[in-house]
Amino acid sequence: MENLISEIRRDARETRHYTGRDHLKDSVLDAMRRVDRSRFVAPGTELYAWENRPLPIGYGQTISQPFIVALMTDLLDLESGHRVLELGTGSGYQAAVLSELAAEVFTIEIVPELAESAASLLEALGYDNVSVRAGDGWHGWPEAAPFDRIIVTAVGEEIPPALIEQLAVGGRMVMPIGPRHGGQNLTVIDRTESGIERTQVLPVQFVPITRSDD
Ligand code: SAH
Repeated sequence: MENLISEIRRDARETRHYTGRDHLKDSVLDAMRRVDRSRFVAPGTELYAWENRPLPIGYGQTISQPFIVALMTDLLDLESGHRVLELGTGSGYQAAVLSELAAEVFTIEIVPELAESAASLLEALGYDNVSVRAGDGWHGWPEAAPFDRIIVTAVGEEIPPALIEQLAVGGRMVMPIGPRHGGQNLTVIDRTESGIERTQVLPVQFVPITRSDD
């Protein structure tokens, strides 16, 4: 575990010219320490849970690399009162990390089997401030909007318009933007009074946002 935290710290230092931050907040590293990643990886891959790399979770999807989970969480600048939306529950790991730092987490997963297993795992582990929904996150979660923070853990060529609408003014979204293969950039999107401001943070590689009509 502390090895993984050291690797995350090292990655943060090595990417500082891109990200503009040479270290991640202690609160984020502490949240990473508190969540047992071995519970979220696929059976048979527990041995690799503490390595700083993505792992397959079935259905062609992956649990993201721990450094990327930590960086995205850091970029969100979470406060304890925040309500957060996540598109792409996957294993539920990122949602668990968010739930350690925010008031409420709403997370949507398009693969029903993944939504179901993440929901029951999060419940079993006592993450009672996380709500999981099976469905197409492209439309967001209008009944629970507005959100102080939104995180998208799958790549899209554009920002889902509903998510911009559901982001509070003064709120922030973190999302990989780009094509399916290559050329993706982790992007911070700040919603201001007058519109949105985008800042590209780091070249990344994510699985694509799929749509229910794909
Ligand atoms: N955050 C996850 C990793 C996500 S991988 C974790 O911590 O494990 C990306 C996930 O986004 C996949 O599970 C994929 O099925 C999901 N996804 C893709 N398109 C989606 C959509 N339109 N709505 C909701 N989820 C989607």
